[in-house]
Amino acid sequence: MIKMPFYEIQDGIFEIDEFDCDNIFVITGDERALVIDTGTGIGDLRDTIRRITDKPYEVALTHAHPDHIGGADRFEAVWLHPDDWFMLDEKTCEKAPTLAYRNNYMEIIRAREKKFYDYDPESALHEWEAAPKLLPLADRQEFNLGGRTVTAVHCPGHTPGEMVFIDDKTKTLLIGDACNCNLLVNAGWKETPRDSVRATLEGLLAVTKLHALYEHIYNSHHDYRSFGCELPGFVVNDAVQCMREILDGTAEYQEIPNPLSKEGAKKTIALKGKSMVSFMEGDIQKECRR
Ligand SMILES: [Zn+2]
Repeated sequence: MIKMPFYEIQDGIFEIDEFDCDNIFVITGDERALVIDTGTGIGDLRDTIRRITDKPYEVALTHAHPDHIGGADRFEAVWLHPDDWFMLDEKTCEKAPTLAYRNNYMEIIRAREKKFYDYDPESALHEWEAAPKLLPLADRQEFNLGGRTVTAVHCPGHTPGEMVFIDDKTKTLLIGDACNCNLLVNAGWKETPRDSVRATLEGLLAVTKLHALYEHIYNSHHDYRSFGCELPGFVVNDAVQCMREILDGTAEYQEIPNPLSKEGAKKTIALKGKSMVSFMEGDIQKECRR
């Protein structure tokens, strides 16, 4: 059994660390719990959830990237915004995140972190045998957990169906991959790369308009904050400003080693304060030229 470390980050909200690959959150109410994301698939997630709560729970996904849905085969049904359904087939495993992709991602993180992890990389991940049923997660959908309500908010950009979650009891925003310190924009989800940046900016601005509802922010990767610590609010504000500057032609660009490349490839990022914005595929500076 591979035990996963977790941390109670706010009253009744737990952050599970999937060995630096990403974070999974469990929000516990008086009657029910909500699990947000399922990781790459390393570790015994169901067992870890049971160590946190004995309440019945539902599973919601921030988006359909393999490091967030890799463990979704362990659950019968998952909530996912329909704009991300194209990345996953209901009931069949044809579009399931492949074992090769997830193994490669796990190895990149292991090589980068140089930590000892208490799992065997040869056998930590497995091929999906069944896909979960997909439930349509909607903008402003509420999960009433008893004594607290969690609201899902659509924040497209990183993927078309990216969702963030706001807990009313602790005023906590779980922002998924919608704003990591290096915000990866999906360059191809609108007609042009510039349109994609513009739409991503609008998505993030829609969340910042709800600022009265949250005081604490946690993203889905703790590369730029310590495990269990908050993401400083200025990271979101800087990302917003960075995208404005990309669009008005005043952004500052830098070439950095791609943190997701084994071969040491470089990538171009736009920089503002501590925030970086880049494209998942392609060069943001070249593609966003007017
Ligand atoms: Zn992602």
